[in-house]
Amino acid sequence: MSRCVFLDRDGVLNKDNPNYTYTIENFEILPGVVEALSMLKKAGYLLVVVTNQSGIDKGIYTIDQMKECHAYLQQVCDGAIDHFYFSPYHRTLHASLLTKPGTLMFEKAIARFGIDADQSWMVGDRSRDLIPARSLGIRTIQIGDEVEEEHRGDFKVHSLLEAAQLMLKYK
Ligand SMILES: [Mg+2]
Repeated sequence: MSRCVFLDRDGVLNKDNPNYTYTIENFEILPGVVEALSMLKKAGYLLVVVTNQSGIDKGIYTIDQMKECHAYLQQVCDGAIDHFYFSPYHRTLHASLLTKPGTLMFEKAIARFGIDADQSWMVGDRSRDLIPARSLGIRTIQIGDEVEEEHRGDFKVHSLLEAAQLMLKYK
């Protein structure tokens, strides 16, 4: 069984823009992220991104534009990320269990990679990131203060680097 760190994208790996992030020019990788991913990788964690990209459904950007951003991220972090799952749906247009807080992106990863949920983590900055993880028995770390009180993470930190240090301590 694999141990996995599930990662939200916007607000965890790159700066969250209110108007969506879909060009490399606007894809600002947050401080310490490259180092954090490298540390987790070396510790043997599978790294899986689970991201809602509802701007695709709204016609604001294309899947190809999103993939260019992901290719750029992979280039910068030396291919550390094992897989990207994304939901292109916007809840007002298409209901989908893929869209967080739905669990389907997580469940796909668990089935595909043989992930042990109990030995895995989710790092996110919103309630919708932590709700599905918790329901599957995955430990949760919240970054920042945007998570609602009733959904707060098992741990709270300020950056992915801090989260990585915490996970490695629990290894
Ligand atoms: Mg986010």
